[in-house]
Amino acid sequence: MEDKKLKIGEVSRRLDVAVETIRMYEREGLIIVAKTKSGQRFYSEDDLHWLNCIRRLIKEQGLNIEGIRRLLSLIPCWQIKPCSQKDRAECPAFKGSIKPCWMIKSDLKGDCRSSDCRQCHVYLNAHECTNLKGLLQKYTQIKNNPV
Ligand code: SF4
Repeated sequence: MEDKKLKIGEVSRRLDVAVETIRMYEREGLIIVAKTKSGQRFYSEDDLHWLNCIRRLIKEQGLNIEGIRRLLSLIPCWQIKPCSQKDRAECPAFKGSIKPCWMIKSDLKGDCRSSDCRQCHVYLNAHECTNLKGLLQKYTQIKNNPV
């Protein structure tokens, strides 16, 4: 079934979040927004779920944008992909970036540079970040059974 494509105004109404706030989340790198060929942004139901999660992290858990970024930077993308030891040794995400990998894409090497992060397990799994403990357990399982 094709995913719905929502405009920012509809997202704003459904989540009761100002359009400018949604744009700010994009500018800050928390969400990667899809665009049509003509450059118009559109949002999927998955994006709504993630935006809702961001709101909960801020309102219920008291995190700010920087805190969420640091939380997301804990995701071990090198395990999820997985990357070789050689790639890890040269990768800023592995070496301790305080931003999630998709925000430092221009510094990365290999296929990460050209990959569509919206389709990547690393980005998509981040959307469960209200449950950090469960998330890290999940990654331990992925480590043992790489995708
Ligand atoms: S493809 Fe993007 S989200 Fe996936 S590991 Fe690489 S930089 Fe991160």
